[in-house]
Amino acid sequence: MTSAATLLADVFGFDAFRPGQQEIVEAVHGGENVLAIMPTGGGKSLCFQLPALMRDGVTVVISPLIALMRDQVRALQEAGVCAGALTSGNTEEETDAVWTSLERGELKLLYMAPERLASGGAMNMLRRVGVSMIAVDEAHCVSQWGHDFRPDYLKIGELRRMLDVPLAAFTATADAETQLEIVQKLFDGHPPRAFLRGFDRPNIHLAFAAKDSPRRQILDFANARKGQSGIVYCGTRAKTEGLAGALREAGHTALHYHGGMDAEDRRIGERRFQQEDGLIVVATVAFGMGVDKPDIRWVAHADMPKSIEAYYQEIGRAGRDGAPAETLTLFGSEDIRLRRSQIDEGLAPPERRAADHARLNALLGLAEALECRRKTLLKYFDETEVSCGTCDLCDSPVDVFDGTTAVRKALSAILRTDERFGSGHLIDILLGADTDKIRQRGHDSLPTYGVGKEYDKRQWQAVFRQMMGHDLVRPDPERHGALRMTDAALPILRNEAQISLRRDTIKSASRRPAIKAMVSEEDAPLLSALKAKRRAFAEAAKAPAYIIFNDKTLVEMAEKRPRTLDDMARIGGIGAKKLESYGSAFLEVINGEAAQMHPTRRKLAGRNAGNIYDQLLEVQSQLARGAGGIDKPLSCSASMLAKVAQMRPDDTQGLERLLGDKRAERFGPAFLDVLRAAG
Ligand code: ADP
Ligand code: ZN
Repeated sequence: MTSAATLLADVFGFDAFRPGQQEIVEAVHGGENVLAIMPTGGGKSLCFQLPALMRDGVTVVISPLIALMRDQVRALQEAGVCAGALTSGNTEEETDAVWTSLERGELKLLYMAPERLASGGAMNMLRRVGVSMIAVDEAHCVSQWGHDFRPDYLKIGELRRMLDVPLAAFTATADAETQLEIVQKLFDGHPPRAFLRGFDRPNIHLAFAAKDSPRRQILDFANARKGQSGIVYCGTRAKTEGLAGALREAGHTALHYHGGMDAEDRRIGERRFQQEDGLIVVATVAFGMGVDKPDIRWVAHADMPKSIEAYYQEIGRAGRDGAPAETLTLFGSEDIRLRRSQIDEGLAPPERRAADHARLNALLGLAEALECRRKTLLKYFDETEVSCGTCDLCDSPVDVFDGTTAVRKALSAILRTDERFGSGHLIDILLGADTDKIRQRGHDSLPTYGVGKEYDKRQWQAVFRQMMGHDLVRPDPERHGALRMTDAALPILRNEAQISLRRDTIKSASRRPAIKAMVSEEDAPLLSALKAKRRAFAEAAKAPAYIIFNDKTLVEMAEKRPRTLDDMARIGGIGAKKLESYGSAFLEVINGEAAQMHPTRRKLAGRNAGNIYDQLLEVQSQLARGAGGIDKPLSCSASMLAKVAQMRPDDTQGLERLLGDKRAERFGPAFLDVLRAAG
């Protein structure tokens, strides 16, 4: 049987496992029940695809979204794997083809939508066809509490019981509650072997910025990344349309997307994003589950997400291919107020609301972090061994100041006005402003009136925002945005604790953003040419570009500039089948002409046998007229050489069987030397 490492290289074109993959592949291959929790982009698919190739029979893959299934099946077929999907989106021919290969016992992976499990027919069919394993993608969809709940996922447990085969469940959602539900519903409560992969996504750059002029900030961010695929998340539907328009005006290709659009328009948007290169989607969080594009280069939040989990999930859509990706999250006092009131006005029971406030607090803590964002983020997931260097705070450390006095002044203004006012009025008091509201209420006679003149209005806004961020004050849901002090503020008020605040990071927006490129300037033209070639193939195949090659593969090609198919085979992401399908065409782009290679030899490219073949060829040309150079010319055909290189006979008899006696006599000893030296 072919080993996992060989299949990894030959079929998928990867020279090493990603962290965690190997253990999972081994457990799944060994027939254990497995629950694997891995961050998005960690490479979950491979963890069931590879064992599926190693096991006899069919692996059934349950996955929630038809478009994603179709893309995975396409990608597998491109890699030369016999895979198919049974979904409502199939044409009749597609369904027939799946049945034929099932009946012939050739199909290795059968993707199915969970809805199919509801019909008894499908269950019977699966009983007949020799299913050897069930893989469940996005396993958190069984969780009734999660927002991705899919009732049909509850049928999977039954399927497992009926087929009595091992089940491997995969998800990127980590919280303990969801894990427990997965174990209950998919494994009947018997804990499977669990794998929890670290949550770090080292290729994603993290950055937050206080809102200044949000539209400008988003446009600058996008302008610096022109031509790269990105997502902008917005808090409201109306905003998605406005911002998408502004981006188009600035010369980007941009679409809006939200839950209020009809299903057909949403589907078209998802499809375009998946297929086109360099499209920006401006969306509400409704745009998410359907996105499986590995080459999203950036994600920006025009409004702050609702919790730290939501933040992690949304930025996590960037850079699944492992190539560098960037994020920017904007936040401001308005966002904090909005998110708090959404929780307070929601219908959830009180303990759930408290938990939601805590999740929001964790995000605010991240937004106002004073040191490395990644450390702060991963600490929330209980990870402490973190190295970074790719976040805004590692790039340029924040300027902090002792904010204790400022915070005490602000708290005093809040308390002396009976916690009845919002930050605007409170700042007026601190600055000693002369407004009608102040005069009417006699606030100009408060001891706090005018005690905050060391800061201007903007700086006070930053102080109040950070106080909300540290949950020292909360908007009162009963009193329209009035700020109330929380218990967390008491130690500061009593002068028992100090607090550091950031000097605000709002910089003048006039600074031209530097253009972020994926490769150095000298490789950029080649990368564009390679992308154009990829687009041509993708359009011809009506498939997303990354199914041909992903960005990371193209970047590596542009940087290493392979000269031969052998060099090409060593580029990450190029397996045997893709090398054969596209290798020469891309070499031509790189080197300007087709690398000439015998088709028989081409099949061996990138393998050890390819090297041996070349040496045999060399030896043969030296001996073409015999050792003395005077005999009748004699040579072996390409397919004879390929057979020798692959089968590596270890004696003269073996060679005779492949080459016949005449050739074995002339080339035998020298060939055997080559084979022995190759070990
Ligand atoms: P997930 O489902 O965990 O979000 P995927 O299975 O879609 O992630 O994999 C994300 C990307 O990583 C894909 O483009 C895939 O080809 C790539 N990938 C997976 N395993 C490896 C590996 N061992 N080496 C290089 N790239 C990999
Ligand atoms: Zn950092």
